[in-house]
Amino acid sequence: HTGWIEVVCGSMFSGKTEELIRRVTRALIAKQRVLIFKPSIDVRYDDKDVVSHNKNAVTSVPVNNAKEIYDHVSECDVVAIDEAQFFDNDLVEVCTELANNGLRVIVCGLDMDFMGQPFEPMPQLMSVAEFVTKLHAVCMKCGEPAQFSYRFDASGEQVVLGESDVYEARCRKCYCEGMKTQ
Ligand code: ADP
Ligand code: MG
Ligand code: ZN
Repeated sequence: HTGWIEVVCGSMFSGKTEELIRRVTRALIAKQRVLIFKPSIDVRYDDKDVVSHNKNAVTSVPVNNAKEIYDHVSECDVVAIDEAQFFDNDLVEVCTELANNGLRVIVCGLDMDFMGQPFEPMPQLMSVAEFVTKLHAVCMKCGEPAQFSYRFDASGEQVVLGESDVYEARCRKCYCEGMKTQ
């Protein structure tokens, strides 16, 4: 049977990891063989587990780069990848290759960085995927749907690991207002 790629994207706190855990749980109920990967850079909660902000967890394989995924995927039906924005652009080729070989590939990640810029390799993955789901958080300023990850200190690197101490989900209006005053 055929494989395919599913992308789940959105801002921080939009429920990407919850959705990954939901899809993986259902695949496991159907007795599918599932492997979950995350970049080893993401060590916010636990070395091995994929953990949502509400502390749900499933066991994952931390990998240093996209091609390392190839070393683990024999004997598996479903591959799920979290925090895809922290991978190199080889991830596009890896996901395509796995789907071409009949696997279901679920790939989750931030579609924009804290500057509101597309976060590679997510745009490329969204282009080649069969299915794209964009989730929204709740704007912490006004309660509207939020698609931006506002960082309290916008100076410095693209990647600053952190949680609600560093980032806040915001709608477009509240995001723009915050960026103007920084
Ligand atoms: P993501 O992987 O997209 O960062 P998670 O799946 O880890 O998101 O977490 C989603 C959970 O985050 C929600 O179920 C909720 O408990 C919590 N949360 C915290 N802040 C917000 C917010 N502003 N909007 C929505 N959910 C939030
Ligand atoms: Mg997440
Ligand atoms: Zn708002």
